[in-house]
Amino acid sequence: MTKEINPFELAQKQFDHVADMLDLPEDVRAYLRWPRKEFHVRVPLRMDNGELKIFNGYRVQHNNALGPNKGGLRFFAGETVDTVRALATWMTWKCAVANIPLGGGKGGVDVDPASLSTPEKERLIRGYVRLLWKNMGPRQDVPAPDMGTNAQMMCWFMDEYSNQVGQYVPGVVTGKPVGAGGSLGRNQATGFGIVVCIRETLKRLGMNGKGMTAAIQGFGNVAQSTAINFINMLGGIVKCVSCWDRADKASYTFYKKEGIDPNFLLSITDQYGTIDKVKAKEAGYEVLDGDSWLSMDVDILIPAALEGQIRADNVEKISKQVKILAEAANGPTMTEADEVIKKRKIFLIPDFLCNSGGVTCSYFEGVQNDANFYWSEAEVLSKLDEKMTAAYSSVYEMAQQKKVYMRDAAYMVAIQRVVDAMKLRGWV
Ligand code: NAD
Repeated sequence: MTKEINPFELAQKQFDHVADMLDLPEDVRAYLRWPRKEFHVRVPLRMDNGELKIFNGYRVQHNNALGPNKGGLRFFAGETVDTVRALATWMTWKCAVANIPLGGGKGGVDVDPASLSTPEKERLIRGYVRLLWKNMGPRQDVPAPDMGTNAQMMCWFMDEYSNQVGQYVPGVVTGKPVGAGGSLGRNQATGFGIVVCIRETLKRLGMNGKGMTAAIQGFGNVAQSTAINFINMLGGIVKCVSCWDRADKASYTFYKKEGIDPNFLLSITDQYGTIDKVKAKEAGYEVLDGDSWLSMDVDILIPAALEGQIRADNVEKISKQVKILAEAANGPTMTEADEVIKKRKIFLIPDFLCNSGGVTCSYFEGVQNDANFYWSEAEVLSKLDEKMTAAYSSVYEMAQQKKVYMRDAAYMVAIQRVVDAMKLRGWV
């Protein structure tokens, strides 16, 4: 997201566009353009040196017509309520398109997590919970790790919440480690879901995954599991992945003509998704500049790193060979570039459908916590396959039926589901 764009205005604009297509009445629009509830808190934190600091925190609950609010909790320097509002709104649409019984929420604290020691992080998250616990819970609002937070922090969240309510409540957060109520399969859920969407697209286009080539941007959690599943599930070839190198302050693309070996690259990648250039070169990889993934002659492009990567100024670089754009990252394609993608008839799998495997697996985690009964990884992935295939079909059918772009179709499916639930509940 570029700095000039207010993300919440963007989320509202996107909503207005689809509201027009669905011909939604004014009262329904007024309801959905803004979050139903939002909390602004000032979280006190006793620093290790004894100083007391106060941090601004937010929790936004956009809509819960379909079920409890769901969405990450970010620790991010410069966090604004508008960003949190936008992300909460997008979570409503993501859960709805995935057809899971959850609404949209998001939280954030304006803090640079790198400036905190581990005990300070623990005290900050516990302080946040103490201010908000009455409005959180498996039946109200369920956070998850996000930018600047992790599975350990979710465990502290769960522990503090359990202290407040006086009982063990693992389902108050998802994204927990497997040893503390997490779900098997969560690490690869997003990438697995992306590959299910690609498989379903290939079927519709009358193509076979075997030998299909892909270029992936990024090599973090999502890109790694996408690469592995693309090769294992479909028999595809991943020509390149890329990463950001913090030491060089530059991005690089790692290319191999016959296809990369994701497991080898994983063995030379650090916890931030940065690949060791020297070791890669020794193993016969070509290390190209960071933008090369976009112009690669492949069948499928998979941006899996950052938002705003395909723009008016670089969209024309996409090779003529590309047939599918699978948006693994959130918001990788800017609106102006969308027009070119449409014109060139590149088949788009929109982000909030494509990467919804993560939140769907979070939903499964909550279901397992509720039942206090845990599934095998094979069971999780088979249920995920079923859910993602159905979600994909409903969007594809909407696109065919209304003759609209896949992104618009995904929004139409999502918004219509939320509106239907609101009507049934007597809200509008
Ligand atoms: P991550 O932090 O694990 O990995 C990010 C990767 O992108 C790293 O390899 C990093 O080096 C690379 N990168 C960063 N800047 C780059 C640049 N300029 N050029 C090339 N590579 C660059 O993040 P992730 O969890 O894999 O998430 C990736 C995207 O997917 C984000 O947009 C995220 O919001 C979205 N997403 C993630 C999940 C999930 O389950 N993790 C779910 C839904 C959506």
